[in-house]
Amino acid sequence: MQDKDKLTLPPTVRDALTYCPTLPTLSSVAVQIVELARDPEADPAQLTRIISRDPALASRVLRVSNSSIYARRRSADNLHQAVSVLGFNAAITLALSFSLADCLRISSGAAQLTDYVWRRALAGAVACRQLGHQLGRSDGEELFLAALLQDIGILALHAALPEAYAEIAGDQSGHDTLIERELATFGCDHSQAGAWLMRQWQIPNYVVLATLGSHNPAVVEPDGQYCAAACVAVASRIAEVFVNPEGAGATEDVIVEANRRTGLGQDQLGAVLEGVSNEIPEIAQIFDTEIVSAALAAGIVDQAREVLIARNLDLIREVSTKHRQAEEFERHSQQWQDTAQRDGLTGVSNRWHLDQRLEAEFALAEDNGWPLAVGFLDLDYFKAINDVHGHPVGDQVLIQTANVLQSHVRDGDLVGRYGGEEFVIVLPGALEEHAHHVMERLRAAVEAQVCETDNGATLRVTASVGVTVYNPSTCRHEGPSSLVREADRALYDAKERGRNRVEFFHAS
Ligand code: GH3
Ligand code: MG
Ligand code: MG
Repeated sequence: MQDKDKLTLPPTVRDALTYCPTLPTLSSVAVQIVELARDPEADPAQLTRIISRDPALASRVLRVSNSSIYARRRSADNLHQAVSVLGFNAAITLALSFSLADCLRISSGAAQLTDYVWRRALAGAVACRQLGHQLGRSDGEELFLAALLQDIGILALHAALPEAYAEIAGDQSGHDTLIERELATFGCDHSQAGAWLMRQWQIPNYVVLATLGSHNPAVVEPDGQYCAAACVAVASRIAEVFVNPEGAGATEDVIVEANRRTGLGQDQLGAVLEGVSNEIPEIAQIFDTEIVSAALAAGIVDQAREVLIARNLDLIREVSTKHRQAEEFERHSQQWQDTAQRDGLTGVSNRWHLDQRLEAEFALAEDNGWPLAVGFLDLDYFKAINDVHGHPVGDQVLIQTANVLQSHVRDGDLVGRYGGEEFVIVLPGALEEHAHHVMERLRAAVEAQVCETDNGATLRVTASVGVTVYNPSTCRHEGPSSLVREADRALYDAKERGRNRVEFFHAS
């Protein structure tokens, strides 16, 4: 899988990062928010409680909820109201952004470099949200967060390989040059180092993928994430125009690229730039920082408008159309690929895709010393449902069960249909306790669901689950298929011991 190839860093870089004592770190509040963001059952009260433990964070959340970016009708006097003004999902993502932003700022890296990364992060985050807005997307906060963290790999590489990095970054030559030099010196660039670090932190997967694709969106997987990576890539170019105009390249090129990657027309791109310029002072104030002077920002927008209106517009259009056609083609083949990965009845991953993903996750676990949990879930007495209610009702139960499973795992986990009424659940990074918690939650969710039969009557099902956890730091394993075998073996125990229960595999 491409994701895996990209995440596998050259061994010297990986070791330097793994054993570096001065890597950017998460505050304890950030750790709690990350954990909350991964929990599909999190609620606003928990979020408010965590935020209130960090007065600086609490004040930022309050300020942003009252800023012109969000305050629509009513203003918030306290955190509880702020979370409700923002909406829970937006609030949790913003809290994540604000708490993670600190690790960009409080970095042990050279002051000038940290300052550059920091200003790019904020300008990029604002640009990315503006792009999402113009594209009619509703995930503005997610885009903000993804762009905010896109360059954290610069700080990570600098911390892990200080001498080599100082040579690369010494002359402040801009983002593109940095990438070129990183590739030449380390065999990877900061998008990969950043994604690696975020995986360690268990940051939501869409952010990891958007960072991986921030230099070249085509390297990350299709689906919606592809578009987030494209937005981050464009936001990165726009941020550079604002914070490092000399290193940003010709404004024309930036505009052509923005048009090519997002399909936005000249008016919309003009609006994006204007939005960035307007929003920058407000964000700067929320973070008590300066990103770029208002006069400079206004000058940049004027210049870009000139380019958009007067120069080479035909050329820009022509080039963009060609690129867009190529991307359209790419998107269609990716959509087709996506269909090929899904189970026709239930829509979750099919057996083929499951095998692929399991193999990739297994290799990632081995390379990085992460644990990996695999669960095998089988509906109890399913044959009787078919026999009593008929096959179509059985199908309906399978579809509904798949939906329930999918909605109870986190982003980055995988649910696949192994066959018949058997599902496999893959939890990267999960140790025994966590795996037990999730599998128990899935079992309970299946038990709680109510299915309807054709004549309006209801029926219930239960499931038995077998689980195995692979921890590469304590044992070795032959390969992914033996994990599935072990989970299946534990499933057998669960059936034997009365069904509707979770059992773990124990090597005897
Ligand atoms: P146990 O608790 O031991 O798992 O009992 P069970 O009845 O669930 O197990 P068994 O393996 O005997 O039966 C599985 C049934 O699943 C048999 C098969 O007809 C049914 N099945 C397999 N695939 C599908 C499908 O796509 N749709 C429907 N409706 N039924 C299916
Ligand atoms: Mg079965
Ligand atoms: Mg069964």
